[in-house]
Amino acid sequence: MLAEITAAALICLDPGHGTAPGIGRQLEPIGPGSRQVKIKDPGGAAGEAPVALAIARRTRSLLLARGYRVAMTRNGTDYPGGNRERARFCNARHASLMIRIHADGSADSSVRGISTLVPARRRGWTDDIYDPSRRAGLLLQRELVAATGARNLGVVERSDLTGFNWADVPAVLVETGFMSSPRESALLRSAGYQEKIAGALVRATQRFLIR
Ligand SMILES: [Zn+2]
Repeated sequence: MLAEITAAALICLDPGHGTAPGIGRQLEPIGPGSRQVKIKDPGGAAGEAPVALAIARRTRSLLLARGYRVAMTRNGTDYPGGNRERARFCNARHASLMIRIHADGSADSSVRGISTLVPARRRGWTDDIYDPSRRAGLLLQRELVAATGARNLGVVERSDLTGFNWADVPAVLVETGFMSSPRESALLRSAGYQEKIAGALVRATQRFLIR
């Protein structure tokens, strides 16, 4: 008797930032064929890059334990490319979902909360991933807020993000909280809160993949 072998879904985790300024300041087109360019990595909020990596590693562990395959664009402090390369990395692996993990910053230290960014619909760039990305974003945002009790800043469509416009697989970006808020940055640096976020990402991913 032949066993039916189905490859487990592959989730691409993309912890934001970590690019050295020499490369980070280089320009790249914001989408295929675009003359509009953006720098590869503005550096992110203070302390954001290590928090993003820590959450990604916890998420990877939970996903692997549930039998998923996981690829990470960055699994060390340094990433030598831009957001186009991050998207291409996930495209090449035919990821079922690309989860970009970030934290926010604001000049106002009282601003707190979690948001999830999803690609806006643009013909030729994101029309093929718009619907599944939005569905994943809604699931992720709901699970993140439920798990953490953080302020719900909602799901936000973005047309200007290089890492979305080059993606050929469903892609979302979670802004897991504000590093500029003393209260939220302390939480984001704690193992317990990182685990809550990782658990929420995994639950939402499982729901996303069911259908
Ligand atoms: Zn960021």
